[in-house]
Amino acid sequence: MTAHDPSVPRTGVAVWLTGPVCLLAALAAAYFVLQGPGNLFGYVIGGLIVLALGWALISVFLPAKPDKQCPACGAESVGRLDPHTTRGLVCAECGWQDAEASSFYLAEEEGPLEPMILKGRDARGRGTR
Ligand SMILES: [Zn+2]
Repeated sequence: MTAHDPSVPRTGVAVWLTGPVCLLAALAAAYFVLQGPGNLFGYVIGGLIVLALGWALISVFLPAKPDKQCPACGAESVGRLDPHTTRGLVCAECGWQDAEASSFYLAEEEGPLEPMILKGRDARGRGTR
């Protein structure tokens, strides 16, 4: 997923569903307040538990993958700018760079992150005496 330009309005079905979903949430809250806990409370708590379990299962079986598509040229050639940090992206095709973008998923895919994190701590003065 590429970064969204805040100056461009979002479009799509999800944007149009925001209003109705918020209205339904307000109506459900009003119903809950006016009718008392009753069965609705159990259904809501059960739904939240199912949602949390579903989210955990999705996260386990479909882990996040890094987006390697370049926002400038569209090629699948984005890599890490600096192999020693989890910051910065660079495109091997067109040379596009973003020094502030997170390259955490790319770094995670390449290997263990602990040496990089420990090195960053040492650089900031933590973990040393
Ligand atoms: Zn590019």
